[in-house]
Amino acid sequence: MRKYKVPTGDICIIDGEKGRPLEFLSIGDYGKEKNMKADFLGLSDEINGVPHGDILPLKEKWVVTISSQYGCSMNCSFCDVPKVGAGINATYTDMLNQVHHAIALHPEVKRTNRLNLHYARMGEPTWNRDVILSAYTIADILKPKGWGFHPVVSTMMPKNNKDLQSYISNWLDLKDELNGEAGLQLSINTTSDEVRTETMPNAMSIRDISDMMYDILAFREVPKGRKITLNFALTEAPIDAKLLGMLFSKRHFICKITPMHNTDACIKNGLLTDDGYDSFYPYKEVEKALKDEGFDVIVFIPSHEEDNSKITCGNVILATEKENQNG
Ligand code: SF4
Repeated sequence: MRKYKVPTGDICIIDGEKGRPLEFLSIGDYGKEKNMKADFLGLSDEINGVPHGDILPLKEKWVVTISSQYGCSMNCSFCDVPKVGAGINATYTDMLNQVHHAIALHPEVKRTNRLNLHYARMGEPTWNRDVILSAYTIADILKPKGWGFHPVVSTMMPKNNKDLQSYISNWLDLKDELNGEAGLQLSINTTSDEVRTETMPNAMSIRDISDMMYDILAFREVPKGRKITLNFALTEAPIDAKLLGMLFSKRHFICKITPMHNTDACIKNGLLTDDGYDSFYPYKEVEKALKDEGFDVIVFIPSHEEDNSKITCGNVILATEKENQNG
């Protein structure tokens, strides 16, 4: 295993069962008082930049982000992962191994109140059914030891994935079985279908996403725990709160706004949040519009140090290594 120290933890690379490398993170978090505005949670201070500082002890919160695929074929224009190669599924053992190695980095931590496991380093997780199976297995291992366990799937909602509806239903089954302690995030980013097609060429249209989620949610109880998150990485592309209000029920969905992370692809394609790491201003208007529409809204902002150390989504050091190898 190769390990790179970053200000909030480690980026690691291991060889997967399919003979290619997989990248994962083990990191700490500053705490939501420092990097989150969410009025509905009582966190109402505007965040004008997040200074790097102490992270919470890992026994309180530990974030592990693993790869569900070797590379990715979704080709989102703001993401460096496709440069690593096509999205071939990581195996069930690959995913358990990444979590095992991440936890083994800190033998001094015997348990944590909250292990957030994000299937969000490389790959679109809904192509890989073993993601769900691995989350069940890890819950079975950790929960009897008293660990808080919060697996999270973030999806671009790929078109042409015939298994998607059933996959999301099964993930919501897991969420209910874990008493709501699993997360589902849909990466919407913008309500403009034109920009979505340009930047997320393999994702469904926003209306198709709304229809599919309606079909999934109409005949089941409201899933336990945190509502489903509609995620928006802010750029100049529109976020039409009224349209979102028509397409997604506030009973089931909340909105989360983040800056577009400074990946190499974003810098090359000019997809950035102007001033988004230093000032609340870029988020203010859209946060208000979504709240006026009745949504609960989270604004979540990483520090410069987190973004520059490539721990944020869309970054992957394997891409840089590959580019360097290719000269
Ligand atoms: S953002 Fe996610 S789905 Fe899109 S290319 Fe990157 S890893 Fe794949």
